Amino acid sequence: MKKVLLCLVVICILSISAAPCLAESFPEDFILGVDVSELIAQEQSGVKYYDAGGGEADALAVLAQSGVDRIRVRVWNDPHDAEGRGYGGGNCDTSVAAALSARAAALGMGTLIDFHYSDFWADPTRQLAPKAWAGMSPEEKREALYGFTCKALDEILDAGGDVDMVQVGNETNYGMAGETDTLVMAELIAAGCRAVKDVAARRGLEIKTCVHLTDILKSSRIAEVLDALDAAGADCDAVGLSYYPYWHGSLDRLARVISDIRTTWKRDVFVAETAWPFTLEDGDGWGNVIGDVSGPWPASPEGQLSEFMNVCRTAAQAGAVGAYYWGGIWTPVGPDADENWPIWEKRGSGWAASFATGYDPDNVGEDYGGCAWDNQALFDFEGRPLEALNAIRQLAGGSFPEGVEAPEPEEDASAEDEGENLVLNPGFEDADRAMWIAKSETGEVPFDYQDYAADAHGGDIAFHYWSKSDMDFTVEQTLTGLEDGIYEASAWSQGGDMKDAELTFYVISGGERYEQPFMNTSWANWQNPMISDIPVTGGELTVGAHIKCAALGWGTLDDFSVIKVK
Ligand code: CA
Repeated sequence: MKKVLLCLVVICILSISAAPCLAESFPEDFILGVDVSELIAQEQSGVKYYDAGGGEADALAVLAQSGVDRIRVRVWNDPHDAEGRGYGGGNCDTSVAAALSARAAALGMGTLIDFHYSDFWADPTRQLAPKAWAGMSPEEKREALYGFTCKALDEILDAGGDVDMVQVGNETNYGMAGETDTLVMAELIAAGCRAVKDVAARRGLEIKTCVHLTDILKSSRIAEVLDALDAAGADCDAVGLSYYPYWHGSLDRLARVISDIRTTWKRDVFVAETAWPFTLEDGDGWGNVIGDVSGPWPASPEGQLSEFMNVCRTAAQAGAVGAYYWGGIWTPVGPDADENWPIWEKRGSGWAASFATGYDPDNVGEDYGGCAWDNQALFDFEGRPLEALNAIRQLAGGSFPEGVEAPEPEEDASAEDEGENLVLNPGFEDADRAMWIAKSETGEVPFDYQDYAADAHGGDIAFHYWSKSDMDFTVEQTLTGLEDGIYEASAWSQGGDMKDAELTFYVISGGERYEQPFMNTSWANWQNPMISDIPVTGGELTVGAHIKCAALGWGTLDDFSVIKVK
């Protein structure tokens, strides 16, 4: 980094010796947004926020004063049980979005509406249809989705909201509203975009539409979704991306995906969600999603500032039009879980209330509770604004804050940038799979080479298993003709309903067996067992996985890798 600073100084001296060295400029029209979906539930829970001067303040006013020009608000169709009790996570229905959007408009901030088309959280692993759409055909859902979008958007605009963009679906890499076929999903998104454009035309407004995707390490899947949107004729102006550095690779990767979407699909691109912890402590007695980080920034207020500034800079340089920070106001209700519990239940300020269990038994079940994001908010546990907010003001003013360095380039987490993978047909994509041996000492191996992208780590196909009987089998490949040296091996695994399960990733080399146990947790939560420092001297190495679990367990294995490191 010193080199870069030196260059800047030299350039400034060389360019105009009489002029002062100018601060790095930042595009003033770059959207600087914060997702505030939980704010009303927070306020109803008694949560307080403060401004930079220490006075109690409206969190939205603090954001506006900090240069934030957009809020983002999610909309769930009906996040309530039959008795009208809220599911939690902010109980974000249309009326909540309308109230927040109107308040933001009064402070000069526009709104990005984020329709999930579900009654609760939608993300790559869950896209449940709203209760009211149960049993509908795709055609009926298209009609219902069009009608819901028009009605909700009208309600938000009637309330005084200033909506400049509408997101049709949330993290829709693999499905939406209970539909998992890519073209069916694209047609649903097209119907939502049409609804937005029709409402805007009727009211004489300009409102943009966007689709929201995540998992930028799997760009082949992003390509499939964007191609499907074109095939469905979706009037979709922009693509929003989730970018959490602890999950989604380097800033270089983010820049490449942004550029690729702009040039190949001719859409505006923005970062729809990003965040970074300002601490690893928990503020409300309910454990956090991110309890540990490695990466270019520490878990500190300075690290959080640096993360958001660098994401904005990287995105802007790659041609993106904006970035939204996620969970910025989701602070603790209080420090004590016992005192928080009844408030989370009554006000919906935790990630899920018990009333959501019936709607989403797989993902909520008995795991409802408090806020798992309080260490990544833009306010500290007491509601005081953190450094990252002040820095947003500088970006909004057209200059990049001094002293915020770009992180050192890091190794990309994607396989395509690593050394040569010596496994043959490592992701099962080629039809010739004779190099893979599946065997069992107790019976049949209940597997197939499944062609379903949502279950594959890369490409479309994965080694898939499921059985009504207990399972105990291995799948492996023996590599030959290897040079002497030190190797590293890994694989990807996802699955669920693991009972009495022992899952083992293994390598056999020179008569030695190396093992790495792992465990499937739930759909699309990819595990990446890895074995390092494997000596190879006889030219041969076997890599494989041993799956042992009770009946009804299921999962996929994909993208095996063996790389020579020394
Ligand atoms: Ca927490």
